[in-house]
Amino acid sequence: MARKVGFKSIKINAVAVRNFSETEIMGLIEMGRSEGFEIRFIEFMPLDSDKVWERDKVLFGHEIIDLIKENYELVPIDNSLEIGPASEYNFADGKGKVGIITAVSNPFCDHCNRIRMTADGKLRTCLFSTNETDLKKLIRSGSTDENIIDALNQAVLIKEPGHKINLDDFERPTRAMHAIGG
Ligand code: SF4
Repeated sequence: MARKVGFKSIKINAVAVRNFSETEIMGLIEMGRSEGFEIRFIEFMPLDSDKVWERDKVLFGHEIIDLIKENYELVPIDNSLEIGPASEYNFADGKGKVGIITAVSNPFCDHCNRIRMTADGKLRTCLFSTNETDLKKLIRSGSTDENIIDALNQAVLIKEPGHKINLDDFERPTRAMHAIGG
């Protein structure tokens, strides 16, 4: 559909889970190469609605790369992290590229400039935020533009430095990924 409506550059994100995704990776790679899509593998993060995430279920980015390299030579794209969260690689034969998002093993929070608005009007300054700013309530209560701008500024000023998945004091957010918006 995306191609039919004219999008030229199409990326497909796939979460990789240990003991589950290993046999699927090359199938996705082949589909991406033949269709001209960039496949981007994302390390499994504790944002699943079933709450089954465990560190042992994370298929790490370097392991995904190793699996692909069994079949294809990859050439790293030097500046890929400057334009997004994925480390990107070209296939050495010139046919397509692949991205790896090492959200757990090598977080890119230092470069993060993302904020998100949920479908129910809450502003979140990190996927793993435990606090939200209720913009919908502000707007519906007749707040001035200045008050809304102030609330946005206050939220962004205390944006989290990053997730704490790899630390002992990590706190899982109550919202799962589907309730945040990617
Ligand atoms: S700061 Fe939060 S939203 Fe940004 S990359 Fe890190 S975990 Fe993701």
